[in-house]
Amino acid sequence: MKAHDGLYIDGAWRPAGSTDVIEVVNPADEQVIARIPAAGALDVDTAVRAARAALPGWAATPPAERAARLAALRDVLVARKGEIAETVTAELGSPPQFSQAVHAAVPIAVAGSYAELAATHSFEERVGNSTVLQEPVGVVAAITPWNYPLHQIVAKVAPALAAGCTVVLKPAEDTPLTAQLFAEAVHEADVPAGVFNLVTGLGPVAGQALAEHPGVDLVSFTGSTAVGRQIGAVAGAAVKRVALELGGKSANVILPSADLAKAVNVGVANVMSNSGQTCSAWTRMLVHRDRYDEAVELARTAAAKYADRIGPLVNAKQRTRVRGYIEQGIAEGARLVAGGPESPREKGYFVSPTVFADVSPEMTIAQEEIFGPVLSILPYGDEDDALRIANGTVYGLAGAVWAGDEAEAVAFARRMDTGQVDINGGRFNPLAPFGGYKQSGVGRELGAHGLIEYLQTKSLQF
Ligand code: NAD
Repeated sequence: MKAHDGLYIDGAWRPAGSTDVIEVVNPADEQVIARIPAAGALDVDTAVRAARAALPGWAATPPAERAARLAALRDVLVARKGEIAETVTAELGSPPQFSQAVHAAVPIAVAGSYAELAATHSFEERVGNSTVLQEPVGVVAAITPWNYPLHQIVAKVAPALAAGCTVVLKPAEDTPLTAQLFAEAVHEADVPAGVFNLVTGLGPVAGQALAEHPGVDLVSFTGSTAVGRQIGAVAGAAVKRVALELGGKSANVILPSADLAKAVNVGVANVMSNSGQTCSAWTRMLVHRDRYDEAVELARTAAAKYADRIGPLVNAKQRTRVRGYIEQGIAEGARLVAGGPESPREKGYFVSPTVFADVSPEMTIAQEEIFGPVLSILPYGDEDDALRIANGTVYGLAGAVWAGDEAEAVAFARRMDTGQVDINGGRFNPLAPFGGYKQSGVGRELGAHGLIEYLQTKSLQF
């Protein structure tokens, strides 16, 4: 793992104008593992100009050639899979096996899907006496968080490049090394200079300068709802396109006919994976009151299995925040059945896998996104009650429904105000659109729906 001391702009690593640096810390042992540049507004301007200059050439590149570059990019990611996993483990703290199986593997699948979509998507259609052209939106500002550092980059950059857009990426402060590795991969894949640019830096400095830059046509942001709201306001004032992938507080609804042990075990695994730092994690488990005690006991046993396996949180601030929520859950009267606010280890930003029972829908831990390994189990009386609780937050990103038969689960899922629902533990699909209802966001990522976000239409009449 190598850290660059420059920014990747116009096809080369260049020194930043700003002398500020970001220290990258390994959250498992709190050691500084690298120092990388924190770009200023002038650096951002240089990167946007490079992306703007490269736009006409890349937009005019035939989709088949754009597809070939994306296929080459996927192949580089495959060749460097081990290094990607090591880098994510070093800066995010994710256990090595999870880094391989998810942090490295999912972006490879997504890059591959856009190589295929770029080759097969119909960028032109005939509607009566018109031809409708789908053209690239222009220069894209991609601003990403740290929790799935490579996935979130690829979920923006791959469709943007497939569409013919050029990109300036501002990755999260905590995980810039994965972004640098991605820039190396883009370079190795022979993507023309200026088509992809990387500026590492602080959100309120480099991120804000990028979102506000008049040379940017579309801001694609993944992160907290608080920052997303600001970015939406900036984009609205400038009348520029914006896509927002924000927070979540997803419900895992276990209907009375479900296989309870399976639903609870998979539900606990879902919340504990990536140390609970997953926006779509099913952090509210809803169980019928007749099976409630059994479910709580199953969850307590399941959570205990993660005590030695779970990675740290990304930084000290997140750990303080998550512990604060656990303390608030206790103070508001929820019953702690596993874990708690105490640090399980002396070094590293670890939090124990935590389960709360007797949680009521209005409690803070049932309403706000905790972003840590904390599960709340809520009882419900009947299906309408379950639906009211499931839909009773400002978020609507994802969720799960379990039932004895699929049709029953699907009928419930149709009534949920949420962008993605897994039925009886359905698998992740890299082609399925991902994104939120309500305050979980605007727009969709992945698959054909994700590609369309980076296209604008022009009608020619004959
Ligand atoms: P964050 O909003 O603090 O930061 C996200 C990115 O925005 C970072 O790159 C940061 O540097 C940048 N940023 C911060 N302030 C900025 C500003 N004023 N202007 C421009 N950019 C700015 O979020 P985080 O703490 O890094 O990530 C956790 C949050 O992300 C959680 O709320 C989680 O739910 C959400 N998230 C959502 C999805 C999704 O797809 N919906 C996926 C992952 C994470």
